[in-house]
Amino acid sequence: MYEGVNASDGIGIGVARVAIEPDLSFTPKPVADVAAEKARYEAARARFVEMTNKQIESMQARGLVAEAGIMGAHIEFAEDDGLIEAISGDIDTGVCAEQAVKAAYDMYYDMFSAMEDELFRERAADIADVRTGLLAFLLGQELVDLSSLPENSIVVVSELTPSMTADIDKEHVAAIVTETGGRTSHAAIICRALEIPAVLSVEGVTSIIKSGDMCIVDGGKGKVIVSPTADQLETYREAAKKLAQDKAALEAFRGVPTKTADGIEKLLVANIGNPSDATGAIEHDAEGVGLFRSEFLFMDATELPSEEEQFAAYQKVALLMKDKPVIIRTLDVGGDKEIPYMDLPKEENPFLGYRAIRYCLNNPEEYKVQLRALLRASAFGDVKIMVPLVTCIDEIRRVKELVEECKAELDARGVAYNPDIEVGTMVETPAASLIADDLAAECDFFSIGTNDLIGYTMCADRGQDKVAYLYNPYQPAVLRSLQRIIAEGNKAGIMVGMCGEAAADPLFIPVLIGFGLGEFSVSAPSILRARRIISQWTKEEADALIEKIMKLKTSNEVRAALQAAAK
Ligand code: PEP
Ligand code: MG
Repeated sequence: MYEGVNASDGIGIGVARVAIEPDLSFTPKPVADVAAEKARYEAARARFVEMTNKQIESMQARGLVAEAGIMGAHIEFAEDDGLIEAISGDIDTGVCAEQAVKAAYDMYYDMFSAMEDELFRERAADIADVRTGLLAFLLGQELVDLSSLPENSIVVVSELTPSMTADIDKEHVAAIVTETGGRTSHAAIICRALEIPAVLSVEGVTSIIKSGDMCIVDGGKGKVIVSPTADQLETYREAAKKLAQDKAALEAFRGVPTKTADGIEKLLVANIGNPSDATGAIEHDAEGVGLFRSEFLFMDATELPSEEEQFAAYQKVALLMKDKPVIIRTLDVGGDKEIPYMDLPKEENPFLGYRAIRYCLNNPEEYKVQLRALLRASAFGDVKIMVPLVTCIDEIRRVKELVEECKAELDARGVAYNPDIEVGTMVETPAASLIADDLAAECDFFSIGTNDLIGYTMCADRGQDKVAYLYNPYQPAVLRSLQRIIAEGNKAGIMVGMCGEAAADPLFIPVLIGFGLGEFSVSAPSILRARRIISQWTKEEADALIEKIMKLKTSNEVRAALQAAAK
């Protein structure tokens, strides 16, 4: 049994196909005919771009819009002016195309791999992919082809690149195992979107597993079993059957309103990171968008996106969602969300520093570009503005002033917007929780960000294993904070939602019903499951549960009580 990163849930049982990568070794040789060498590079580049464009078209045809967007990054890295200039310049000095390509892409690869932010580090995989493609074509090699595989294939590959997944024969792939990649890598994102079980970062797996080996891959637990025993096969076949039945049973909750067992309506919406995720949200039956993390637009760019670019993205989501609510969070930069070109100062303690709304209010002209784009999008749907990391009233008041300034500017330009656009607060700091009554009087809705609220309340980093025992919503301190925020919001008559991960926690949903939460914003694949759990509880039952757990003193006791009560 081998362990790796549990990147995409599900159980795959089948026969391993170890993908052999092209041999990219070469001996650099000086060139005499510079023009011919440049033409060779240009031909390889053109072939790579053509191949990638075909893959993008094929992905779009299969409705894989987000994945096609990822492949767009390959075209950008193939057509990057800086890289082209560096390579041509090298060839001018007599260096062969292979070496010039390798040197330029190696430099970019090293630069991206050294970045602190995981999302940026993962982009290094895209750069490596373009480098492999160009070198393979220059050396007359073919690329790994996963487009036609025998049934029940377990694909084993050192690195699953986005271009490999572009044509992947989804019907015949039972699971994917790799040697590299984290949960936020493109490989992981694509496996989840394709709903292919995947375990990533299994050390040395391409040498351990041989083509033809029987394997079991448990994507949810991050386990790979090679040459399983008959007993293991039996156990996992049963587990796979149960998973499939469970998934099929959830279909009964598609297209029905989200209600508690005693008929209290709740709003069940999706968290998205970019406009194409909105399509997935609709497919999973979301009733709107509860959190559009707008920073992904900024992360996917090399400079601040313009008002037009932002407007196009927000408008796209608004139009896709028709009259359903779309809550867009304004730029949440800093802390765990690094955007290199914004050049935020290095800090001892970035989580307590210059970030999110603090940065935006210090750069009002930059912030107003986003606010104007949001206002313009509000003419096309039910767009709402949400402010991250609020800690005091002044911040929300200042945002509202800036929104008014933007409205006046749009009036002067004769541009339409919703004059009654709602402005809400993310409640994700202990400070915001403590002044929830005053905050509720100043804004149109609350959305509780438990990911940060738990971290700041418990003083525990969400990514730090050693303090993981503190980081959970069952902590009495977190429970009291949540109860207070929801009660104050409800008292003020504003909508109270939750967009942190706790909103999708099956054990925690009844607690939130008891507290009186009105909106649950979860990742798209969690929607049907959340709807089913909500439908299983009456308010009275949830209240009784609250009464019990609020007396408990430790998170372990709370978790145990919730497990015992789970339906
Ligand atoms: C949160 O903090 O709960 C949240 C939803 O935002 P993020 O995870 O993007 O910080
Ligand atoms: Mg947050």
